[in-house]
Amino acid sequence: MIMADSRVVSPELLATMVDLLPTVGSLRDLCAITGLRLGTVRRELAPFLAIMKLQGAHPQCGCGKDRFHPYGCVDSVAKAGPPKVAASILERRGSVISMLLAGDRFVDIDNALGLYPKSARKYLRFLTPEQLAERDRKVVERQSNPSETSK
Ligand SMILES: [Zn+2]
Repeated sequence: MIMADSRVVSPELLATMVDLLPTVGSLRDLCAITGLRLGTVRRELAPFLAIMKLQGAHPQCGCGKDRFHPYGCVDSVAKAGPPKVAASILERRGSVISMLLAGDRFVDIDNALGLYPKSARKYLRFLTPEQLAERDRKVVERQSNPSETSK
């Protein structure tokens, strides 16, 4: 699903990480999800966390400090809970994206994955321009081969 490189973080991966910031319990969870190194995650997210901090919107740790604070935490509940949620969010996103790339109709993706109506369309923002072009090509392909649309 998500390709990660330790040196180059793609815009869509960064967008995903920023998106997950409010739900992940620690930066290490983001490492586990993205396959990036902790130093990379920390470096890439630092500007976003700084902005959140300025806006008073920095995610909070269960212990009362800013989340992602160093040296461990007394609040083990906060650490045990969120990662599973984040992983499932990411898993679903991966499913939607692969179906988008396959050229599936938005309504079919919503139905197949049990999403709310018109959800799949919103995932287009996670696609790179190349992936969007690939989807467009698949959609044209599908529309010109009606016999292969239904499964
Ligand atoms: Zn804490």
